[in-house]
Amino acid sequence: MSDLRPFIAGLPKAELHVHHVGSASPRIVAELSARHPDSRVPTDPAALAEYFTFTDFAHFIEVYLSVVDLVRTPEDVRLLTFEVARDMARQNIRYAELTITPYSSVRRGIDEKAFMAAIEDARTAAEAELGVVLRWCFDIPGEAGLEAAEVTTRLAVDLRPEGLVSFGLGGPEIGVPRPQFKPYFDRAIAAGLRSVPHAGETTGPQTIWDALTELRAERIGHGTSAVQDPALVAHLAEHRIPLEVCPTSNLATRAVTDLELHPIRQLAEAGVLVTVNSDDPPMFGTDLNTEYAVAARLLGLDERGVAELAKNAVTASFLDETGKSRIAGEIDRYTADWLAAPRA
Ligand SMILES: [Zn+2]
Repeated sequence: MSDLRPFIAGLPKAELHVHHVGSASPRIVAELSARHPDSRVPTDPAALAEYFTFTDFAHFIEVYLSVVDLVRTPEDVRLLTFEVARDMARQNIRYAELTITPYSSVRRGIDEKAFMAAIEDARTAAEAELGVVLRWCFDIPGEAGLEAAEVTTRLAVDLRPEGLVSFGLGGPEIGVPRPQFKPYFDRAIAAGLRSVPHAGETTGPQTIWDALTELRAERIGHGTSAVQDPALVAHLAEHRIPLEVCPTSNLATRAVTDLELHPIRQLAEAGVLVTVNSDDPPMFGTDLNTEYAVAARLLGLDERGVAELAKNAVTASFLDETGKSRIAGEIDRYTADWLAAPRA
């Protein structure tokens, strides 16, 4: 098979499962760290590269929390958000639903309204200056319990920023049953937000059923353990409930022990609408282009197949129909031009 990386690099793409703080690249962390000299995070690129080399999952959490600690002011929030969009533009990502955990920032003392203004300012600037359309998913950090759920719901519903389209649930799944969050999802859905909880990443198919029946999920974050339950796979396929699959993340967190054993192909062949995403890209040593290359290999795709995969993300997005056909059209034109061009 030909090397698909140059094709993937230029392909217009949409990303549906990527975390705000988790997208802080070493370049962005260096900028934030320079703003807060008292932090113990290195500022020079070589030391940072080493800092970002994870030894295990506990180390990943430690680094993640040290980056959370660098986001202290509304200006930090704006810088992080805009610079994440800059990294997306470099990969030809045209549209992203960025998962933000406002509870972490608000609890750290950032003013709620200033936080919303900062992300919205970054969103409009990213669209105007970088051509990247951003939308938000506010997620409940599950490990922080019902108080975090209450705060997140209040912020989403009462202070709803213009770019907010969906409501999620992240953090660990083990020991954090999904059904307890039903009242919060009910409120968010009643306010017009779409339900996109993480489920079935590190626990079995029952968690995905709970996300569907209790939290009325329209899309599932990860959802890879669905493969263990044929009835669930059939349900996802029949009702066109997309999965946000993040292959390298699954390997990094040991949700799968080997990429070759990743269930993406089985799910796709069963007719499930599969999308490819990067989750916390710099922290997992990846980016969306790399995830597409991984998925193309696991799924056995050529250029046309990769273009279809990119269109799955557009289909599964919460863009309006005009926005969807604009990006799908860009993907089609790019692919047709690529395949028509003579190549050595
Ligand atoms: Zn995630």
